[in-house]
Amino acid sequence: MARRAFYGCPRRGPGPPQKLFIRRMIEKRKILIKGGIVVSDRSVSPMDVLIEGEQIAALGDTAGLTVDVEIDARGLLVLPGAVDSHVHFNDVFMNTISVHDYYTGTLAAAYGGVTSVIDFSNQAKGESLMSTIDTKKKEAEGLALVDWGVHPVITQPDTSTLNEIPLAVEAGAPTIKCYMTYRDEGLLIEDNDLKRILMALREAGGMLLVHAEDNEIIEATVPAMIDSGKVDSIYHARSRPVKAENNAIRRCIQMVEETGGKLFVVHMATADGIEMIKDAQEKGLNVFAETCTHYLLFTDKMLERQDSIKWICSPPLRDQSNQDRLWKGLKENIISMVTSDDAAYSWEAKLYGKNRFDLCPNGIPGVEPRLNLLYSEGVVKGRLTLSRWVELISTAPARFFGLAQRKGHLHPGADADIVLFDPEEEWIMNRDSLHMAADWSAYENIKIKGKIKKVFSRGELIIDGDRCLAKKGRGRYLHR
Ligand SMILES: [Zn+2]
Repeated sequence: MARRAFYGCPRRGPGPPQKLFIRRMIEKRKILIKGGIVVSDRSVSPMDVLIEGEQIAALGDTAGLTVDVEIDARGLLVLPGAVDSHVHFNDVFMNTISVHDYYTGTLAAAYGGVTSVIDFSNQAKGESLMSTIDTKKKEAEGLALVDWGVHPVITQPDTSTLNEIPLAVEAGAPTIKCYMTYRDEGLLIEDNDLKRILMALREAGGMLLVHAEDNEIIEATVPAMIDSGKVDSIYHARSRPVKAENNAIRRCIQMVEETGGKLFVVHMATADGIEMIKDAQEKGLNVFAETCTHYLLFTDKMLERQDSIKWICSPPLRDQSNQDRLWKGLKENIISMVTSDDAAYSWEAKLYGKNRFDLCPNGIPGVEPRLNLLYSEGVVKGRLTLSRWVELISTAPARFFGLAQRKGHLHPGADADIVLFDPEEEWIMNRDSLHMAADWSAYENIKIKGKIKKVFSRGELIIDGDRCLAKKGRGRYLHR
C-alpha cells in the first residue's frame, strides 16, 4: 500500500509571490489529510479531513480544494487524538516522585497518540485547593508538549477547602478526586467528609472522582501480613482483596443515593464493582467508572514473577475472571473508558518493595502504550469494535471531563488533534520501543499490531514516525 507524504509540496493557487505572502499572513494554514478511514465513536468511513489553523474545518470529499499541505492517508485510520484523563505527573508518593514531569510525561503521551492529559493536583498540608492548580500551571510552563488539565485532590476536607470547590469548578477543574485509603500518605478522606464533598460538588456542578478501597481492611491486613512474614508481592494483592474495593464502591454509591451527587470510580478492577455500577446506573444514579490498561492486560499472576514489583499498583491486579468481566463491561458500556493511571516511579524506588510489598511505590508507567494495547488486545482480538476503541480512549474521556467541544471527536470546529494509525503494521513493544522516562517497563515483549504514524495537536504535526517535532511549552491548560 502506498505511503506518500507531500510535505513541502503545497498546491497553492497562481499569483505573484508577494500577493501569496500577504494572503498566507491572513489565511490560516490548510492541511488536507486525504484518503484515510475516519473512525469516530459512531462510524467508520472513508473521509478526507481538512485542517485550517488549529481546528478541523471540514470532513468529507474535498476534491478540488487548494491547500498548503496534503498528506496521503491511504491505508491509514484517522482517529481523534487520545485523551488520558488519569495521569500522575511530578507525583510525590511513597517516598519518591514520578519520573514523568510535564516534559517527559507529555513526550511519552505524544508518542502514544495522546493529545490531552488530565493530571492530579494533590493538596499539600495547609495548601489551598486553588493554589494546587497554580502549582500545576507552573510545573507545566515551558515544558508541556500536549494540552493538559487538572483534577484537584482534596486531602484536607475543612470548611475553607469546601468553600473553594465552586472556585475550582470556575477555574476549569470541575472534577475533584478523593482517596478512601492511604492514611500514611495524607490522602485518606473519611466517609462523612466524602459525603460533604459530594454534596458541595453537586451544588457547584462538579463530579467526585474516588479511589475506592476500604481503608479499614487494608490497615488491618497489611501489618498482620508483614508481621507474619508474608512480604512477597503477591501479598500486596491479598492485603487489598476484591472485598476491599467492593466495600468502598458500595459505600460511595450509597452516598450518591443519599445526596444525588455525581460519582466517578477511578481504576475499577473488580467484577462485582461492575455489577454495582450497573445496578446504580439502572436506578438512574449518576455513577460511572473507568478501568485502566494494566487491569485488562495483566492478572495477579504477574505478582508471582521474579520481577513482580513492576506490577505493584493499587487497586492490585485481579484474577482472570475479574479481568474477563472488565472486558465485557467495556463492551456493555458499564465501564465508560480506559485510562492509564500513569504513575512512573524509578526502578530504584520500586526496589524499596523488593523484600516488603508495602514499601513499593504503587504504580505503573502507562501513558504511552494505551492506544496501541487497546487496539492490539481489544480490536484485533475481537473484544472491541473500532468505534468502541476510539470512544474508550478518546471520545468518552473528552465528554466526561468537559472537553467534548474541542477534543475526542473529529468535527468541524474541534481542535485538530488527530492520529494517523496503520492498522496492519506489527512490532514488539518493550521499554526501548517506547518513550516513557522510567528505566523499566511493565510492557515487555508484547506483540503489537497497529502503529501510530503521525500525531497532530491543534493542527501542528508533533509526531512524525519516530520523530517528535513538538516544542516544549506548546501544550495549553485545558479549562474544562
Ligand atoms: Zn491514579
